[in-house]
Amino acid sequence: MRIAVLKEQAAGETRVAASPETVKKFIALGATMAVEEGAGASASIADTAYREAGAEVVSAAGAVAGADIVLGVQAPDVMALTGAKPGAWVAAVFDPFAQRERVNAYAAAGFEALAMEFMPRITRAQSMDVLSSQSNLAGYKAVLAAANQYGRAFPMMMTAAGTVSAAKCFVMGVGVAGLQAIATARRLGAQVSATDVRSATREQILSLGAKPIFVESVAGIEGEGSGGYATEMSEEYQQAQAELVSSHIAKQDIVITTALIPGRAAPRLISDAQIATMKPGSVIFDLAVAQGGNVEGSVPDQVVEKHGVFIMGYANTPAHLAADASALYARNLFNFLSAFWDKEAGKPVLDEEIGDAVRLTRGGAVVSERLKG
Ligand code: NAD
Repeated sequence: MRIAVLKEQAAGETRVAASPETVKKFIALGATMAVEEGAGASASIADTAYREAGAEVVSAAGAVAGADIVLGVQAPDVMALTGAKPGAWVAAVFDPFAQRERVNAYAAAGFEALAMEFMPRITRAQSMDVLSSQSNLAGYKAVLAAANQYGRAFPMMMTAAGTVSAAKCFVMGVGVAGLQAIATARRLGAQVSATDVRSATREQILSLGAKPIFVESVAGIEGEGSGGYATEMSEEYQQAQAELVSSHIAKQDIVITTALIPGRAAPRLISDAQIATMKPGSVIFDLAVAQGGNVEGSVPDQVVEKHGVFIMGYANTPAHLAADASALYARNLFNFLSAFWDKEAGKPVLDEEIGDAVRLTRGGAVVSERLKG
């Protein structure tokens, strides 16, 4: 069982799909590990660390040659897999709705594409869930980036020269990223409020010491929602939400938006007219900027100034915390493959519930129900 780890090719991708720790653990399971030279450099992991953990550190072609499994953060171009075993598995983030051509190319080449973002949200898969591990770090980084852009302080400070008032921070979308954004903003001393369409988040907001702001006139999503996911909301709900946001947002200094709907463009939560009501110097960080944006006018990797308000968002927020994001991502992959490791076969054998959820292609065809639908 040869497992290859390639250097990421996508612009701005600083993460790597294996750490020296996971390399050691895969070797302990009986695998041979081959890591491309320089794969960990942008995550502060030197080639020597992989060598010391027991991996071969070789060229890209050398790593892929004869590989049974290839690990990636973002799925590699199918051309980069030349030399891998027929039917080899590739475990990575595939962005399959937006990158359908790539999925088709994997099918045509006979590889098994395993999309880590399709990991089901079930208890036993929590430790394998790359969306959670990366969103948590993203929520943290969003608040730090917004704080850095903000020309005032977050905590209230009483000084001899006068009092600085606490920043007011509003978090929209209280999933994994939103919860971490609330916690981080609270730690920095801001007064925090938050909203979501799922009613289960109300308790979570309160438990973090923040104030829930909810649409009351139109029903949202009861409880967690199906699999913890939000759906597109009715026009009536959207209208009520827009009114609620309009009255709240004008008083906010920092807004962090995190709302996503799987397989669809991110919902628009803040309009230009609403931005115009905010105080000059306020900051909006749009964590959904790469999925079309929750905020009108947000542009990936740019700070846009509109009506005196700074609107920002990174195309790839976890990549701004490359070392921790890589360490957690690598563990997610190890937890996934090791949970299914068949000692006799010397390789992982996936079960139906998780295998069918993450597998996009097999035997030359696209097999994912979510993609067929
Ligand atoms: P997500 O990234 O899909 O979306 C972020 C948040 O935005 C969600 O809370 C969503 O409800 C909210 N949102 C969507 N549309 C909105 C709108 N129009 N207005 C306001 N908010 C909107 O969510 P996520 O971070 O992946 O987590 C969602 C839930 O799933 C959480 O309860 C989380 O704990 C759960 N979860 C469970 C597991 C597991 O059990 N393995 C793994 C991951 C997440």
